[in-house]
Amino acid sequence: MNNIPLSNGTTVEVRCLSCALTSGLIKPDGGVIIETPLFHAHQDVAYPIPGLVILASKRHVFGLDELTEEESIEYLQLLRRIRKAQREVLKIEHVYYFYNEDTTHHFHTWLVPRYTWMYAFGRSVESVRPVLLHA
Ligand SMILES: [Zn+2]
Repeated sequence: MNNIPLSNGTTVEVRCLSCALTSGLIKPDGGVIIETPLFHAHQDVAYPIPGLVILASKRHVFGLDELTEEESIEYLQLLRRIRKAQREVLKIEHVYYFYNEDTTHHFHTWLVPRYTWMYAFGRSVESVRPVLLHA
């Protein structure tokens, strides 16, 4: 089991945070953004940054290469839809995308918006951790 601190001040103890979120066991602040039979998109539960969206598979797999053909196609379509909404609704000009396979959760991609206040922490990948901790 893993203890995961959430941005709302509580801590959850779960085997896989992505399973807990995509199955509805944990309700993300702001609710579900998009849900399909294959994927689940929600506001990140650990870092309170508006528009920091997590797109997670519903299947408990870790690698991009483990996605089925159908999941691969839908994954890109959903990423694009979320990115378009970030641009149109939240006026987010740039986004950083991350996904790491050695996670304690299962396959999920972070769409991390870049707001102007973040540039005080620098640009590019090395600025992301300080930005998240600051938030
Ligand atoms: Zn899982």
